[in-house]
Amino acid sequence: MVCNVRLAEQQALDKARQMADQSPNDQQKQQLKQQIRDLLKQHNAVMVAHYYTDPELQALAEETGGVVADSLEMARFGKNHPADTLIVCGVRFMGETAKILSPEKRVLMPTLEATCSLDEGCEPVEFAAYCDAHPDHKVVVYANTSAAVKARADWVVTSSIALEVVEHLSDQGHKILWAPDRHLGRYVQQQTGCDMLLWQGECVVHDEFSSQALEQMKHLYPQAAVLVHPESPSSVIDMADAVGSTSQLIKAAQTLPHPQMIVATDGGIFYKMQQAAPDKELLLAPTGGNGATCRSCAHCPWMAMNNLQNLAEIFDAKNTEVFVGDALRIKAMKPLQKMLDFSVDMNIRLKGNA
Ligand code: SF4
Repeated sequence: MVCNVRLAEQQALDKARQMADQSPNDQQKQQLKQQIRDLLKQHNAVMVAHYYTDPELQALAEETGGVVADSLEMARFGKNHPADTLIVCGVRFMGETAKILSPEKRVLMPTLEATCSLDEGCEPVEFAAYCDAHPDHKVVVYANTSAAVKARADWVVTSSIALEVVEHLSDQGHKILWAPDRHLGRYVQQQTGCDMLLWQGECVVHDEFSSQALEQMKHLYPQAAVLVHPESPSSVIDMADAVGSTSQLIKAAQTLPHPQMIVATDGGIFYKMQQAAPDKELLLAPTGGNGATCRSCAHCPWMAMNNLQNLAEIFDAKNTEVFVGDALRIKAMKPLQKMLDFSVDMNIRLKGNA
């Protein structure tokens, strides 16, 4: 399974680099953006973009009345928006979640090849067998999973509500089977003290952050705060001034008094983080390698597959529409709905995942 994920990652990196080589010049970009604006109006469509996508796509989503958010907020925004068509700029599980919540709408993505190492590393049949082998555990899965894996779960959570849900289940005496991110699972386990079995998946971007290199960087920037997404290794989390989901990290950049922020998550987040904290200097946390030896360089290769060209072709190209069959959708909606209801009960504003 690890080999498959690495292969998928390498293919995504190659493709993203190939796309970057064919990147349009400024004039072509302006033309593409105008084309996209016209298409959105013509098709009564709205863009929903994730924090990790190219800043140009994030800006276009905002400018055209769409949203830039985490996966759940993207799906919720899409559900509540009057548009007939949702254009989801992100990775495949986000398109699926949007379709699960809005089955009556058409959901399109610039490329359905954009996946996620957590999703790739949690194959549904293998996962179901693991669950079957542990029937005395409640199955809690992270939002970064396929519809088929969600359908096998008791609960779906995002990183912003994982602690509360697991604490709630633990208080009721349940043991937890957690999937797929092992770092986030361990963080939740440490924070809640819950009895948890952890699936051994990882995000290829966050797994690369290095505590050793971060230690060196902190010497260079002694006044900086360290903001860490909990998909990162525990040695990096241990060095954090703030740990949280994407939305929680943006909030931390705003509220912490430090003049600089060293941020351990995908660099795409800087677009919204800088808007929220214009007076702060934002620095990307170091990965284990750098330059030619760095695999992701803190940027998700699958998120990078979304670009102006494939967005402009979205209505003409084949294989851009997301489908989730009714039976699967109904099953996957149940654990998602539990999270939505729980968040209302707890009066928690859900904002955040990968
Ligand atoms: S950044 Fe990591 S968790 Fe997010 S989509 Fe990419 S591989 Fe998946």
